[in-house]
Amino acid sequence: MSRTDEPPEDKPAEAKPPREKAPRPERRLIGIPVSSGIAIGPVFGAAEPPAVITRLKIHAEDTQAEVARLDAAIAQSRKQLLKLKARLAILPEDSQAEIAPLLDAYLQMIGSSRLVRGVRRRVAETLVSAETAVVDETEALAETIMAMPGDEDRAGRRRRAEEVREIGRRLIRNLTRAPFRSFTGLPPGAVLACEYLRPADAALLDPARLAGVATDDGGADGHTAIMLRALGVPAVLGVAGLTEVGQQRPGETIIVDGTAGVVTLNPSATTLATARRAVTAYARELQKLALLRRLPAVTADGEAVDLQANLEIPAELPLIAQSGAAGIGLFRSEFLFMNREKLPDEAAQAEVYRSVVEAMAGDPVTIRVLDWGGEKEIEALQAEGVVPEAADLNPALGIRGIRLLLRETELFETQLAAILRAASAGPVRILLPMVTNVGEVRQAREIYERVIRRLRRRGERLPDKAPPLGIMIETPGAALSADALALEADFFAIGTNDLTMYTLAVDRGDSDVSALYDPLHPAVLRLVQFATEAALRMRMPVSVCGEMASNPKLMKLLLGLGLRSFSMNASAVPRVKQAIRALDIDDCARFARRVMEQSDPAVIQDMVLGTG
Ligand code: PEP
Ligand code: MG
Repeated sequence: MSRTDEPPEDKPAEAKPPREKAPRPERRLIGIPVSSGIAIGPVFGAAEPPAVITRLKIHAEDTQAEVARLDAAIAQSRKQLLKLKARLAILPEDSQAEIAPLLDAYLQMIGSSRLVRGVRRRVAETLVSAETAVVDETEALAETIMAMPGDEDRAGRRRRAEEVREIGRRLIRNLTRAPFRSFTGLPPGAVLACEYLRPADAALLDPARLAGVATDDGGADGHTAIMLRALGVPAVLGVAGLTEVGQQRPGETIIVDGTAGVVTLNPSATTLATARRAVTAYARELQKLALLRRLPAVTADGEAVDLQANLEIPAELPLIAQSGAAGIGLFRSEFLFMNREKLPDEAAQAEVYRSVVEAMAGDPVTIRVLDWGGEKEIEALQAEGVVPEAADLNPALGIRGIRLLLRETELFETQLAAILRAASAGPVRILLPMVTNVGEVRQAREIYERVIRRLRRRGERLPDKAPPLGIMIETPGAALSADALALEADFFAIGTNDLTMYTLAVDRGDSDVSALYDPLHPAVLRLVQFATEAALRMRMPVSVCGEMASNPKLMKLLLGLGLRSFSMNASAVPRVKQAIRALDIDDCARFARRVMEQSDPAVIQDMVLGTG
């Protein structure tokens, strides 16, 4: 075994092992507050067990494909490690000095190393899956390290062996594309701390068992953040160094302050006492806000405002009922398609839509048809060959939303039929995602009318008047064509999350660029204004259903722009209502005019949010 072939020896000497028993100092890490509330509990997830690996044999002719999967997982692992390394700069120097060598060691291990060569050889010679080869090779290498003669102490060898196993776990996570799914084993009250959580994984969390979530990566308005808010789980994302700095041991105490965006590892007794007081104060505040449920959403001068809730999974329905929302302004149906092997058929979808419509007891439900793409991964679409295995180079700019539905018309027609069947149970509206031009709406409407005719022929019970067909205004293309689109669509729902992302060319789920993600940027506000005015001129319903609608501080501006309908995370409804009840429409209009005269995003932030 040559020296360069031996990954543990590639590792610089400064990286020190975590000491086994010594009490560790408190560490405060700053991240992006994405879901309010404070969680105190034992931490889990940072050292989660590897995914269960089936010892899969492969055929000789599949070797090349298996090695290609391995190479993709290595490339993905490298990307993740380089990203973690780039983010170290915002940590204190001593933390950087501790972590950087560790990341370098990991990077070397997935370079031209014995480990990688050994895994490749196992795939080719023993004809096993890449996952099996990784498990076998990392274990063999770890055992070799432990058995190595030499003057290095046993603790050092154990640490190096653990590093080999750790990089193996990363490769497995990337091979199985199921980064952090094994949450079922978490004890009640646990706090999940991991590098990254996909929206599909977040949808599987049980808010009754999980106290809080913190991750290294993720942005404020990504779908993972939206899901965590929907579940009411306190969460801080984009916490640089979270899973490396603390070297947390499973079960140690962690505090996640989802309101302030602070994560505290190994909190002192004083910090713990302060956090416990904050938990009580937060619960009291929620009780007070609950009193607003029955009060109408009207401004101080009597202007009525429509406040509805966004829904991701039917489990949120009780929260929506408690919130006092007057309907569902955005049902993100994509979560219905996630975490399953087969796509839901018409009957299965119709049942879910009907149950939601019935639960809303006469309040309107706006169901958005499948918005696949970007970060929303749906394995069943791949399994059934609807979308390719390999992601687009630029998934947010590729086949997304309405583009996929117009290409895969069977998928679209099945969903439209299911929604129409549910429409006999109560008022429903249908919403098209990711529209960029009038042709898409015309094509969608033709398909919609065809489905209505087919259902009528089939003798299905449908409402006399077909549910309105509206569109999301969430691309600059749609916003700037709003006057033309208003002639084609029955209503607009302004999706400020994607609108901000596409206008400013900033990934909404990427913590590296989160400082640039600014829905108050004048370019975004001008698009919102243009689309709103186009709708109002046509007397067409228009609402905002992006995360902007859930910030009470933005109500003055949004009402001033002429908007009167908002859909938001259910937990935001009381606070938004409280803000609205204190506003006067004339003041709002004057304020909006002053804001829209500004060109500097920082000035607008200051005016609207009161930040400096
Ligand atoms: C939006 O883009 O603002 C929106 C509401 O849709 P989603 O967050 O699901 O992309
Ligand atoms: Mg969107």
